[in-house]
Amino acid sequence: MRPEILYPLFAPVTALPGVGARVAKLIEKVAGPLVVDLCWHIPTGLIDRRFRPKVSEAEPGRIATLTLQVEAHLPPSARRFPYRVRCADETGFLHLVFFHARPDYLMKLLPPGSTRIVSGTLETFHGERQITHPDHVVPPEEFDERMTVEPVYPLTAGLSPKVLRRAIMAAIDRAPELPEWIDGSIRSGRRWPSWREALSRVHAPNSSDDLLPESSARMRLAFDELVASQLALAIIRARQRRQAARAFPSGGRLRQAAEAVLPFQLTRSQRQALAEFAGDLASGKRMLRLLQGDVGSGKTVVAFLAMADVIEAGAQAALMAPTEILARQHLFTIERLASAVGIEVALLTGREKGKSRREILARIADGSARVVVGTHALFQDEVVFHDLALAVVDEQHRFGVDQRVRLAEKGQRTHVLVMTATPIPRTLTLTAYGDLDHSALREKPAGRQPIDTRTIPLSRIEEVVASLSRALESGARVYWVCPLVEESEQVDAAAAEARYRDLAARFPGRVGLVHGRLKAAEKDAVMAAFAAGEIEILVSTTVIEVGVDVPEATVMVIEHAERFGLAQLHQLRGRVGRGAWRSTCLLLYAAPLNDTARARLDTMRRTDDGFTIAEEDLRLRGAGEVLGTRQSGLPAMRLADLTHHADLLADAQQFAKLVLERDPDLTSPQGEALKTLLYLFGRDAAIRYIRSG
Ligand code: ADP
Ligand code: MG
Repeated sequence: MRPEILYPLFAPVTALPGVGARVAKLIEKVAGPLVVDLCWHIPTGLIDRRFRPKVSEAEPGRIATLTLQVEAHLPPSARRFPYRVRCADETGFLHLVFFHARPDYLMKLLPPGSTRIVSGTLETFHGERQITHPDHVVPPEEFDERMTVEPVYPLTAGLSPKVLRRAIMAAIDRAPELPEWIDGSIRSGRRWPSWREALSRVHAPNSSDDLLPESSARMRLAFDELVASQLALAIIRARQRRQAARAFPSGGRLRQAAEAVLPFQLTRSQRQALAEFAGDLASGKRMLRLLQGDVGSGKTVVAFLAMADVIEAGAQAALMAPTEILARQHLFTIERLASAVGIEVALLTGREKGKSRREILARIADGSARVVVGTHALFQDEVVFHDLALAVVDEQHRFGVDQRVRLAEKGQRTHVLVMTATPIPRTLTLTAYGDLDHSALREKPAGRQPIDTRTIPLSRIEEVVASLSRALESGARVYWVCPLVEESEQVDAAAAEARYRDLAARFPGRVGLVHGRLKAAEKDAVMAAFAAGEIEILVSTTVIEVGVDVPEATVMVIEHAERFGLAQLHQLRGRVGRGAWRSTCLLLYAAPLNDTARARLDTMRRTDDGFTIAEEDLRLRGAGEVLGTRQSGLPAMRLADLTHHADLLADAQQFAKLVLERDPDLTSPQGEALKTLLYLFGRDAAIRYIRSG
């Protein structure tokens, strides 16, 4: 249960004065439905009203805050003219100018003879000073110093800055003083204010420095958020780790047989990863592990060898992929090995229908299908495993954490191995996969040739096409990728179709086309023809991004490479260089390149190491983008920005670890405060784990 001290923060925003249903809807759109969401809605700029000149000193174009006597109201002589109010101090006069104003309202706001503090942008008109529609008009006794520097917040249509600002101020006023959860030694070393003080300061910037992510108040709040997420992950992880799972000894007959049929030597990092899996599987505790490695680094093979260990003990394994093509690719890799050692493999995707689907489901249920490869179809309720002991989830970034959990729940305390071919930078791994152990395949299998990567302006496309005919003569197979024009399969398909027609005219009978609008069976047929060498150029949209292993393909042409992200370019390039032959990647770009696009293409030319590219991607795009909410399956960070707070993340992880070592059930005073922190950031699930664990 949420501690009572947090109740005011978890009230709906309608609990705030001046916030009715209409405004609440708008606030919900920009910030969220609760008072606490307003606290996290931090300013992105400020308006400085501290310039307090006399009338004669006011500068045109600059915001001024003046103390004025109201002298006279000057109603317009005709409707199209504005209403003016003449005001003055001892140095001179100016006019306040109002269009479409209601005179009775202005009389009340600016009674003749009264003193008013007025703030707005001064201008000159026909040689006279004036302020059109002043931002603020208040009697001196209502003047609040806080108004002289106004935070500027992200808005939405229909929500006025004034209304939002007032609601946020009210929200902060309601924020209670909370028990301190950060050790005094950490705080004093960094001069961090208390939580409440930090919150007020963030919303009352004094200068543009206060808006920086590096300001001490922002750092403190970011640290809080990171600690909440790291602590929650650590709790869940510790708890899941404590879950007993069946122990599987490693390296039995089946595994040895499978290794013996491999036509190659495992790399050192493949062996290392296998040893790590073996340790997990034999531990009697649940395995929760992430395997990162570039395309072609040999993840699928390693996963299969781990499967062999659980299958030997009579259990089943599943491999779930994000797309149909990729599921089939895995099936292909695995079936070659599995059939050599007599393991039965089943495929289940959305395409297995009717009688054959029922048969597959029956084989999964009675356990005769020892390895089940599939897509999301594996989640469905109709899929019942006889005894699922190991779930391997490929391309994790396309699944959410929830889906991962659901798959694991298909079995009794199923061991889970997550594989991703999109390495993410070390700093982000903690955030995205902090609940998992990590293994990485950092080296490429022996015999792989480096890929010769070149950038070429699109104006030289004719030369590129000419060079293709030479490459084809020497037996090359070519991928030609057309860009994502917009988020529309139809438009992308049209671009690919046009390129297909060009190339097909040039190389009749040797070109194929795949795009997202083709039926899966049509797509597969084209892919199969390409794999078999019946066609030699495959024009496609980005559907070939994942999966697809054609070792004979040695040329990758990417049209409008400047439109692709680094991670995507890297994935695409990974389609070539898989065999023993030397491969080429041609990045065709439209000049002129902007700086980021140039930096991306340079990175591609310089390195083909996925981990290096991931770090560079982080530098160019920022953490928020690299770690899109949907992709990571994590709630987005509101206060922490990992491009600026990456060091804080490591500190937060360290802090969470120490705290849990000292006080695993969070019962000390600091532990209790940390529970409040978890609730404050909506990490209630982690607390349930403490309670029940
Ligand atoms: P990933 O799943 O990481 O993309 P795969 O496991 O599909 O990689 O392997 C890619 C290709 O490399 C496959 O054809 C596979 O048989 C081959 N391969 C895997 N490990 C090695 C190795 N150690 N030496 C040579 N080839 C390997
Ligand atoms: Mg693979």
